[in-house]
This record gives sequence, structure tokens and C-alpha cells, in this order.
Amino acid sequence: MVRMQPRPAHASVLSVASECVPLVKTGGLADVVGALPKALKSQGWDSRVLLPAYPQVIDQLRSVRTVWEDPALFGGPAEVLLGSVGQLKVLALSAPHLYHRPGGIYQGPTGDYLDNDVRFAALSWVAAQLCAEGTSDGWKPALLHAHDWQAGLAPAYLRFADIDTPSVMTIHNMAFQGITPAERLETLRLPRKEFHYASLEYHGAISALKAGLVHADLITTVSPSYAEELMRPEFGFGMEGIMVERSADLHGIVNGIDTTVWNPATDPAITQNYDVRTIQQKQTNRQALLEEFGLGPTGGPLAIVVSRLSHQKGIDLLATAIPEFTRLGGSIVVLGSGDAELERTLEELAAQYPDQVGVRIGYDEALSHQMFAGGDAVIVPSRFEPCGLTQLYGLRYGTIPVVAATGGLRDTVINASLAALASEAATGIAFSPVDALSLSQAFRRLIGLYADQHSWHRLQRRAMEAPLGWDLSAQYYAELFDELVAAA
Ligand code: ADP
Repeated sequence: MVRMQPRPAHASVLSVASECVPLVKTGGLADVVGALPKALKSQGWDSRVLLPAYPQVIDQLRSVRTVWEDPALFGGPAEVLLGSVGQLKVLALSAPHLYHRPGGIYQGPTGDYLDNDVRFAALSWVAAQLCAEGTSDGWKPALLHAHDWQAGLAPAYLRFADIDTPSVMTIHNMAFQGITPAERLETLRLPRKEFHYASLEYHGAISALKAGLVHADLITTVSPSYAEELMRPEFGFGMEGIMVERSADLHGIVNGIDTTVWNPATDPAITQNYDVRTIQQKQTNRQALLEEFGLGPTGGPLAIVVSRLSHQKGIDLLATAIPEFTRLGGSIVVLGSGDAELERTLEELAAQYPDQVGVRIGYDEALSHQMFAGGDAVIVPSRFEPCGLTQLYGLRYGTIPVVAATGGLRDTVINASLAALASEAATGIAFSPVDALSLSQAFRRLIGLYADQHSWHRLQRRAMEAPLGWDLSAQYYAELFDELVAAA
């Protein structure tokens, strides 16, 4: 893409999301929302991230002051607090009636909060107001960047109120669509005349994600392959028609990772730091990991999985393939939580193969770093994967990714085909179709590659040298932003 116009001075983007690292995270969305501002900064774009002021957000913010107020925001008083955490500038929407809950950010002990539609409509509504009015410290965004369904109504509110700030909608996962009954139109401050197929209506209900996809000026998703997949019924989750209609405005931009946080040479969470020249020191981390999970010594590969335990992530396929993998001499450790039945199945496997299978149910950031440092391979058998981050951490740590050939996994891992091995290009193993048989075959290939330690080390070194930072992707976002603002 060629930059057409010089960027406006002090160009600033309002990024709107329900989670953001380091304040609050349940998945990869938070990593991206937290990392993008720093990357965009080097491209000349300043950012402020608008997110709900959940209690843990308030606790971590520094230099907080009120920059916007509303005495009656969807049933209660609200204010926007400007604060910072590290380099990140945050606008925290404080509305205790919506965001002060004892449970998680989306659900309590009995499941999803019943007013999630209102909670995130309020976030989106305030985003649109900030575009129109700016904040009391004189800041006003040139562009709105909405992430996933929780921010999906923001481009729609802009459109309905004739606010001319351009908007970008990013899909991190099409499976979550923010669907709520049509009777909620007034409650959500949505005009009844917009309740039709070409706007808010989705199979007789309202979809916040669809609203964003229809009304944003541009749509992005987090890998080129996922952008293509979204136009097909197998992956589009009913939105494939809209994706085809909007294909000229749809861009796939692969996520980067924070290479300062994810750096085996400096990572404070791991036993032994190493880099591409001292990769044999990874052994010390491997030994520590075997001990951490109480596994026996092994001459075969030690695989790791760090994941939500869900059908999307193919954890059922993993469970099916594990016995054969152990029979061939492999060992595996799994960290994750999610579907109760999958948790139980994995724990049963750990009980059945105590020397070769270890399972930790829960969320543990430090342990995840130790796993990437100590594992030989990271397994990602997702049925669909918009981008995926763990295969990127794997590459960075010389922990060879074994991935389903789908979405962002396909775009970031070069399969060890004969051709790719011969031309010294391979960085991992990619398998398709995504089923238990293919995964078992991938495990066999892993065992075979690992057995030849000389070429294994070459594979590891190539993986560690793969470019994974945000530079190129941030440039792509910045160019799209520039074009939109220049055209506005
Ligand atoms: P998704 O957002 O679909 O869950 P991604 O691969 O994009 O999948 O991002 C998942 C993020 O959450 C990664 O940073 C991964 O390391 C982290 N993660 C997932 N489960 C755990 C866990 N149990 N403990 C620590 N980190 C986890």
C-alpha cells in the first residue's frame, strides 16, 4: 500500500475493547489491544484505550482524573477516568451499576451476566460520545477502532447520530456475536427503523457484531487466511454473506507478540535464559518442567499445550491422540481451563499415564512462560483459529509449533514438508484436515523430526529467528488509518 497523504498532526485513535493487557485479560484479544498502541506509536498514531472500569482496572491505573461524565448512562451515573499503566493511556468507563461485579468480567457463578448486552452497549455508546465531544482535557480522536462484539455497536451509534469520525471494526473471533432479543432495541438506544437485514437485524434478533460489520468504514481481522475463511459458511458463523459483500473493505492483518515480554534471553519467569546461540541451555528448562509436572525422564519430545479447553481449540482431538503419542515415546503437559468434561478427560489421562502426561487446570501466566521455555513442541489443534498466539510464543522460544492448518496458524507456521525442509524454510508442523487422525500423524512426524537432533536444532533456530514483532502489522494498520482519515 502506498501512503497517499501526509498523516494529520497528532493523529489519535480511540481503541474500544472489553479487555486489555496488562489490566484485564481472558484471551488473545487483550494481548492485541494492549500491544497495538505501543506499536502504532512508532507509526505516528497516538492511542487511548476505552474499556470498562472493572475493579481490577481501577486498582492498577495511575494518575487518574475524570475527563467525561454522564449522570444517567443506561441506568446509573458514569464517568470516564483518564489514567495510565506503563506507556498505555487508558480511558476507564466507571459505571458501578454495570461493571462492579464480584465474578468474572463476562460471567458470574451461574453463567453469563444477563445484562451483558447493556454493559457493552454502554461502552460502545460512550465511545461514540467521545468521538463527538472529545474529553475535558481537550483530546478528540480522529478515528474509532472497535474490537469484537463488545464494541460492535460503536460504529453503529456513530452512523445513527451522524458523527463523522471514521471507524474500523476488528474481528478477533467471529464465534462471539453479541446476540440479544429484538425487544431490547429501546433499552440499547437503537433506532427501531434500523432493525432490518442491512443494519442491526440478525435472524430476528440484534447482533452487536453485525452492527459493527455493517456500519464500520473498514473491517479487519487478525490474519489473511481467517479473512478468507470468514467468507465461507464453515467459518463465517452466519456472517459469511456480509463478509463477501464487504470483501473490498476487509483486511487480514496478522497479530504480533510483545517480543520484550516473550523473550527467552531475558524472561524472568524461566529457570535458564537462552537465545538462538545458546539453545542447548533450553535443556535446563525442560528438566525443570518435567519436575514441575512430576513426569519421568524421556528421550522423546516433550509437548506442551497452553489453551482454553474448548471444542474450538480441538482439545477433544488432543485427548483422543494422546495415548498413541505416549506409546510412541512422547510426553505432554497441558495448562488450561474451560469445558468441564474436557478438564475431566485430561485429568483422567494424566492419572492413566503419570510418567508422561501432566495436567494443570487453571490460568497461570508464569507457568505458561516456563512451559514455552521447557517444551520441545507446542500443540495447537484448533478447529478454527483467527490468529492464535501460542504458536508465536512457541516459535520465539524454539518450541516447535505443531498446528492445525487453519487461519492464523497457517499464516505463521511453515510446515516441514519435504520442499520446505530441503530449502531450509520450515518452522513447524501443520496438519489438515483438522481431525484426530491427522493430529496423530502430526505427532508421528514430530517424533520422527525430533529423533534427528541435528536437523531438529536447525528447525529450532529457524523458528527462533522468524519475525514475530508488531512492526509490519502496525504499519499496515497505520496505513489503513491514514487512508480513512485522509478520505473523511
Ligand atoms: P484465544 O484468545 O482464542 O483464547 P489466543 O491463542 O489468541 O487464543 O490467546 C490465548 C492467550 O491466553 C495466550 O496469551 C495464551 O498464552 C494465554 N492462555 C490461555 N490459557 C492460559 C492459561 N491457562 N494460563 C496462562 N495463559 C493462558
